[in-house]
Amino acid sequence: MRDETSVPGWARRTAQRVAESHGGGPHVVVTGISPSGNIHNLREVLVAEAVADALKARGSEVRFIFHADTVDPLRRIAPGVPESFEQYMGHSLSYVPDPEGCHASYADHFLVPFEESLREMGMDIEVLRSHELYESGVYTGITREAIGQTEELRRILEEVSGREMPESWSPYQPRSASGDLTGNRVVEHLADENRVVFVDREGNQGVADYSKGEGKLGWRVELAARWKALGVTFEPFGKDHTSRGGSTDTADRMSLEVFHYPVPGRFEYEWNYIKGQGAMSSSKGIVLLPEDLLRIMPPGALRRLFLGRDPARAIEIDLGEGFPRFMDEYRAEAGEPPVPFLHLVTVAQATSASPRGWSEAQKMLRRGGYEATPDDLRHARNWAEEWAPEALRLRVLDPEESAEAAGTLDDEQRAYLAAVAGKLGPDMEGEAVQELLYSTAVERGLKPKRAFGAVYTVLLGKKSGPKAGPFVAGLPEGIVRDRLSV
Ligand SMILES: [Zn+2]
Repeated sequence: MRDETSVPGWARRTAQRVAESHGGGPHVVVTGISPSGNIHNLREVLVAEAVADALKARGSEVRFIFHADTVDPLRRIAPGVPESFEQYMGHSLSYVPDPEGCHASYADHFLVPFEESLREMGMDIEVLRSHELYESGVYTGITREAIGQTEELRRILEEVSGREMPESWSPYQPRSASGDLTGNRVVEHLADENRVVFVDREGNQGVADYSKGEGKLGWRVELAARWKALGVTFEPFGKDHTSRGGSTDTADRMSLEVFHYPVPGRFEYEWNYIKGQGAMSSSKGIVLLPEDLLRIMPPGALRRLFLGRDPARAIEIDLGEGFPRFMDEYRAEAGEPPVPFLHLVTVAQATSASPRGWSEAQKMLRRGGYEATPDDLRHARNWAEEWAPEALRLRVLDPEESAEAAGTLDDEQRAYLAAVAGKLGPDMEGEAVQELLYSTAVERGLKPKRAFGAVYTVLLGKKSGPKAGPFVAGLPEGIVRDRLSV
């Protein structure tokens, strides 16, 4: 668990409501998702984590579960998956092969990288795979209860959704011999044997043992069923689930009226939007994967980015132009040593090609009066390479490129650079270099804009760049002298 003071107010208030309605614990906080494509819904997991932390801070024992719905049927083919996977439609994600052959199943192909990111974030969470819960009998009792009360469950579904359910509707979906979970009709319940008799699409009769995971509960029923089977006391939901007639409306009534289990505490979160792209959605391929985001920021910043000030409100994530400001605010709030993110970006890029990059970077930072960790620089460099607007991308030109760029300068500018090269001393501080660049321009009657432009041209191949003094001071003296001697 992280520092108690890091628990935000909304999470503390939610935990208080959960404690009032469900007692002092032990609490079971659950969050879950169907691993049918790239998993990006970090906001839900982080909301659950924050409330779990807030409950712990109140002194409660908490079990924090990520319920991966691996038994769910394949309903659509994720972007990038071969069309031949149509043959697995309706099969459990845990029994469909990995489209790229690198993991145990289709489910694991998407779940395992997400699990790794959760570990990297230091999250204290238990990942449960629903097919294993069914196979090990965790859901046997609740499945028997559900099938035994089919009529009640159907009535609730019809009342809440306003749709009429077919006469043959069952809360249980047995798996046919082909592996298909959909379209099989339950005809008899052998409650003493934990089995159902069913007829598949082709009219073949089969038997499924629900204590061995030979099927699953339909998802609306399963939601309520797992609250009781796992003893859940809190679960967050996105607004798509909590809309009127949505899955929480049916699950709440099923839980209370059929399973006689109190509805877990709840927090309704709004979605994350990506600047310029819209709402995050795996089916539309609009996703930000945690593993990619951890390349450019530490776990604490990722939590802050996805939760915003209040996850009940929508936020727009900007990983481009707005990102440096976000990182500066994050560092200030987290009490980390203040070093402007844009300065880290400059330092990281200026030193990235050098074999002694880290020690040069440290020198450059110290000259500016800053300190940073190798991780800070790695994040800044990755951001510069993967997300930064073109104007912020810097690379010190090699001698040939620099000579070519110098060809665009006039004689006055070239003479200015030579004069500066002659006056540059070893170990000059950033401010001293800034002053030297400026005063030399004034002495030679050169407008500062043209003077500084010449410096950026031979070093970066651009007409402008980061503040020249500290930037030049941070570069190895030999390189600067070489590039300026045109
Ligand atoms: Zn894989």
